[in-house]
Order: sequence, then structure tokens, then C-alpha cells
Amino acid sequence: MPGLETQVMYVRGVGPRVAEMLAAKGIQTAEDLLYHLPFRYEDRQNPRSLDELKPGEVASVIAEVRGAALLRTRRMPLFELTIGQGRLALKCIWFNASYLEGKFHAGQTIAVYGKVEPSRSTSNLKMIQPQWELLPDDADDAETRLLEVGRITPVYESLGGSRLASRWQRKVLFRLLDSMRGAMPECLPRAMLARLGLPDRETSLREVHFPPEGTPLTELQAWATPAHRRLIFEELFFLELGLELKRRRMRERTGVSFATTDTVREAIREVLPFHPTAAQKRTLGEIVQDMRQPHPMRRLLQGDVGSGKTIVALQAMLVAMENGYQAAMMAPTEILATQHYLAARKLLERSSRSYRIVLLTGSLDEDRKRQTRGLINRGEAQLIIGTHALIEEKVEFDRLGLVVVDEQHRFGVLQRFKLMKKPNQPEPDVLVMTATPIPRTLALSLYGDLDVSVLDELPPGRTPIVTRRVPGERADEVWEFVRKQVAQGRQAYIVYPVIEGAKDDQPELDFSHDEATAAPEPVPPKRTRKGKTADLFLSAKLEANPTAKSGLKSAVDMHEKLRTGPLSGLRVGLLHGRLDADEKEVIMRRFQRGEIDVLVATTVIEVGVDVPNATVMVVEHAERFGLAQLHQLRGRVGRGAAKSYCILVTGDRVSPLGEERLNAMVRTQDGFELAELDLSIRGPGEFFGTRQAGLPDFRVANLLRDRKLLEVAKLEAARFVNTDPEKSEATEAERASVRTRLKEAWQRRYGLVEAG
Ligand code: ADP
Ligand code: MG
Repeated sequence: MPGLETQVMYVRGVGPRVAEMLAAKGIQTAEDLLYHLPFRYEDRQNPRSLDELKPGEVASVIAEVRGAALLRTRRMPLFELTIGQGRLALKCIWFNASYLEGKFHAGQTIAVYGKVEPSRSTSNLKMIQPQWELLPDDADDAETRLLEVGRITPVYESLGGSRLASRWQRKVLFRLLDSMRGAMPECLPRAMLARLGLPDRETSLREVHFPPEGTPLTELQAWATPAHRRLIFEELFFLELGLELKRRRMRERTGVSFATTDTVREAIREVLPFHPTAAQKRTLGEIVQDMRQPHPMRRLLQGDVGSGKTIVALQAMLVAMENGYQAAMMAPTEILATQHYLAARKLLERSSRSYRIVLLTGSLDEDRKRQTRGLINRGEAQLIIGTHALIEEKVEFDRLGLVVVDEQHRFGVLQRFKLMKKPNQPEPDVLVMTATPIPRTLALSLYGDLDVSVLDELPPGRTPIVTRRVPGERADEVWEFVRKQVAQGRQAYIVYPVIEGAKDDQPELDFSHDEATAAPEPVPPKRTRKGKTADLFLSAKLEANPTAKSGLKSAVDMHEKLRTGPLSGLRVGLLHGRLDADEKEVIMRRFQRGEIDVLVATTVIEVGVDVPNATVMVVEHAERFGLAQLHQLRGRVGRGAAKSYCILVTGDRVSPLGEERLNAMVRTQDGFELAELDLSIRGPGEFFGTRQAGLPDFRVANLLRDRKLLEVAKLEAARFVNTDPEKSEATEAERASVRTRLKEAWQRRYGLVEAG
């Protein structure tokens, strides 16, 4: 009898070849297969006969294929399928569906599911874009038929071409579930489940795949049945449990207890160029409080663009340095590392003490690198700023006390920093900084292993940034405005979505994280949500030709055009990701020093670049950028006292979601509000850009949809960890299986995350 950990290869109906295909989808065990849930369900409990169909209702019909035709209309190819029962017929229509050609022949049995629309002849109803599935005609394939007709039928994302599509999965899962009766041990305490009103594991797995008769379809589609909720809760619980335990363990490890004497305080006071905001004082207080503890700090400093995180981090680094330790800061790009390096040098010049600051990036030549590594290793450098090179170059620190990392580097990096310290030395403190305002509830739950400090106040003297939308035809007015600002001694950025037009509209490299930039969204969907067919048709028309990329302005081309045209006479620079690091740095420095008036760029300038004299941010094709990105870009201006402007120039076709984003940008400047909206538009996967944030890939949970359950899971995890075993509602054996499951879950599913 197969168990949950049985290799899929040995699951009936799989075998070595298919197992290989499944492995490519991350499915290795019977359990993986069982946790691959249907993405929707069709109600085929009561297929309707054609004579009882009424326009407007959503119905499932099983009928015979009569004829098919691909009609080439001017707009798009239409695929028309006629199906029938006896003398009655139903027409099914799909847009842009030349791919359906040749798939049907008369006599096949088909199940369709969709909204019934009136047709010109009353006897002839139709469905637009229905879901469909050909049913096996073969009388001897009774099992398959049983799984597809007369029940709520699960529909799966294919696990490998048409071969491993829904039908295959239904069959394999049905048999697997059948053969595994009693072999799916519970991994959560019974009492907890009872308290939360959630079913046991086996029942849940069974029912998400083959829902019992009468389960409300709306609940199924929303993954809100008790069975679904149980599996989602399970996944989130083990995530939260792992995070909770990590926090506890951290409190048991040995770190550095930094002292905050008067001398340390004086050292900080000496260099501070301005009065810190109340929020800066508070967050620094929280950080320093952690640093004084004898166990390592793991803290997240969250603050909107321009909230002044850098100075807070520098102060913390001064505490480390004044205690005789080294402090390291890792930035995501060379430009930023350099900027931090220069800023730190400038700041520390004001000090009466002398600190040695070094910069280590990948573009340094080998000699320089070796020399710098030596300085770090011998402890002659106290403040080390760099990029990923700090890790790649296998730097060994002499006495590393504090590491400040950008969120992008968080995962995978923490572990390695541990390796970088000399043996027998305490673990360094770690401060993670993020400029992505993460909705608070999510931050607290997701960064369960980090303590969170929030910089929720901007430094004084900032006037709000004026944000305007301008259609592309009025670009001339924009250039005129830029000229005026430059005449007043200000500087401007002009940002484009691509580097160079000729090169097939190659997006800027760091772009791929962001869905919004990848392609204009709506394509007439292959699967339509029920009841939405008509609207979808409309939007399909509006959004026709979704892949057309022509007409996208690029940084390189526009730099040339603007320099010689509308902005002639101004000093116009060009910055993009294809320049090498030295070139980028030269340009950025010249812009910082005011030797360039207008910087034409791609999103390379997105993160953290600080030029207070820049007051205008023009974003062309603004509709192609994601909210987070636009917000980051806007944050590049408004950093000085002068009034700043963000001008969003749009192309001629803006999708409804694009509209939503642009309106939000005009409406608010609050990063948290935009983050909430972004999250709701994009969904958490896209929002965090899994790769970037290193978030675990969830099998069933969805952070947006399941935020409430995430909260519950967090509470339950804390309760589980912090309850005295004697007083626990869970039995000894249950606690043991929770632990086993936790280990397995963290190793297998969240392998990326430090599972210390
Ligand atoms: P971010 O949080 O985006 O990294 P920075 O640390 O780059 O923000 O700070 C943004 C700008 O605000 C910088 O020019 C910085 O010098 C300035 N700044 C930071 N804190 C203060 C303050 N308390 N008063 C005045 N200006 C400040
Ligand atoms: Mg910054």
C-alpha cells in the first residue's frame, strides 16, 4: 500500500517516464501529487438536457459533437462547434481559437459548461467560451466516465502536456486515494482541529479532489470548503511554526552584546547631519536595544522610499564600530553600494575619530579586490560596503559584529555570513532593510523570524510630490516643463521601459520580476470565468493585439531624440543596465554632482539612488510599470526641499488594470496604501516576486486570499510553541508528529529559507 512518502514512480498509473515529467513539476512523492489541487470544479452532477436550458443560466451539458468550423472574421478567428441531443442543438463559440481546429469530429461525446446565451433562432441556444472536455466514448472505460459525469468534477492544471491533464490526474488520484485509505496520518493535533472546526487530513485530501455531492460550487471555486481551509491552514501553520521556532532558537544563540556608552553616543552625535525624525529615533532605539542583547539580532527595518533608512543603519554600524567590531553593508547594485560608500565617507569625515571604510564590488580589478579583502581580514577596515561580491569573493572578516542587508539578499545570505566569520566568534547581528512597504499584517506574519521596525514618518520639509498623468501626444509640454525646471537649476529623470528599441524591445534586465511590465495584461482568456463571457468579449476587443510591442520608446533612442531635439542645449545623460559598472558609476556620479541635467534611464535607477536636487521624474509608457516600481521611481524625487513632480506619460492603449495603477499613483503617495492595492491587483506571488523575496512557494495557500488563515496560523503556531507540554492540548505523540512534519516541510518545501 502506498504511503504519503512513496515515490510517485511507484504510484499506480505513473511509472518511471511519467515520474520524470512529474519531477520537473516538483512532484516527487504521492503526497506531492495529493497536494496538487484542482484549480476549479465543474458541476456535472446534473447535466442538463438541451430542451430545459434557459438563456442566462450557467449549466453543464453533455451532448454529441455534430460539426465544427473555424470562421475567419476580420477581427479574429472564431471557432464554432455545434453539439446536439436528438433534434436539439447548441452552438459553442470560442474567440481566437484556431488551436481548436481539428480537435473534434462528429459523434464524440463532449461536456460543456458555461452560460447559456440566447440565439437568433429560439430553438438554437449558444454558449460563448464554455469550458469543455471530450468524454471517453469507450464503453469499457467506465471508470473514467464515472469520474467525469454525474459528479462535481475536478479540473487540474496539466502536469505535462495533454497527456497528464485533468483526465489523467483524476484517474490516478482516484485510485491513489482509494488505495491509501487509512494511510494518510494526521499531522496536526486533533484538539486543535476540533477547536478550529477543521476536518482531518485524509478527509480533506479526499474531498478537495472528489467533493461530496451537494458541496456548494461557489465554496469550492473559492477554495473555502472546510477541506480546503484545513489544507491551507496546515501549510501556513507549518510555515509559522518554523518561523516561531527560529525566533526562539535565535534567542538561545550567542551574539555580541554591544555597549552603548557615552562615548558611543558622542560618536553618533558628531556625525549626524540633521535632527533625526521621531520615527528614526524610535527605530534606532529598537535596533540598539537588540544589539545590546547577548543573542544575535534579526531585525527588519521597513520604511517607505525616502524615509531615511540609511542614516539609521549607519548609526547602528557606528555602534558596532565603536565597540571594536566591523560592520558590513550589502547593497543590491553597484550604484547603490557606491552611493552608500560615498555617503558613509562623507558622514564619517565629520567625526573626530578615524574609521577606515572600504568598498568591495565585483567590478574592482583583482589586485584591488585582494587588497581590500586583506584590509577586511586583518581588521584594518571597520566599515565594509559592497554588493554580492562580499559573499562571492569569500571575504573573511576579522571581527564582524553587524551586517546590514538589503531585503533582496536576505535569503541564503544570512547563512553565509555565518561562515564568513572566524571560528569561535559570536554571530553577527543582522539588520534587513526593505523599501517595499509590506502590508503590516503580512509583514508580521511572514517575517515571523524577524522583529520588525517601521519607519512611518518622512523627514521634515518635504513637500508632497505633484503627480500628473499626461497622454503621450502632449509630451512636448512635458519637455518644455523639464527645460523650465533645469533653467531653475534643477535636474530631471526620464525613464523608459526598455533599453533599446531595435533590439526587439529587450526589457531592462531587472524588469522581469514585475508582471505589469512584461506584457499588457488581458488576452482573451482561454478559460473564462462563468458569467463573464460578455464582458470578456468586450475587453478582448479593446485589448486586441496584445503582443504588439511596436511603438515602445526606448532609453537609447529617446536619449538621442531628446538630446538633439526638445532638450537640445541641456546636458542629457544616459543610464541603463547594459552599460558596464564603471560607466554607470561615472554617469551616476556626474548626475549627482549636477554635471548632467537630465538623466534618461531605465529602471536601473529604481532602487535607492539619492539626488536631492532632482525634482522631476518623467516615466514614459507609465502604464507598463508595476505600482511598486512606479512608487519607487517617484521616490527618486522629492528628496530635497524644492517642490517635485512625477509625470506619468501614457501610451495610447492603457488596460483597465493599468488605469487602476495610474489612478492610484495620482491619488496617493502613501507606500502602504499602494502596497495594499498592489497586493490586491497582483496577488502575493507577483507582489513579492517570489524569487526576489525568497518566499516559499506555497502548494495550496495564497497569501492574499488566505490572510485571515495566516493570522490564525500564526497565533496557533505561537500557542503551540509556547505552551508548556504538560498543559498542551496535544498528546505527546501528536507533538512528535508535528515536529516530524515540520522538519520535512521546511527541508523540502522551504529549502531556500534558513531552516536553522
Ligand atoms: P531611504 O529610506 O529611501 O533609504 P534615505 O536614507 O536615502 O531614504 O534618505 C532620504 C533622504 O532624506 C536623504 O537625502 C537623507 O539624507 C535625508 N534624510 C534622512 N533623514 C533625515 C532627517 N531626519 N532630516 C532631514 N533629512 C533626512
Ligand atoms: Mg536607501
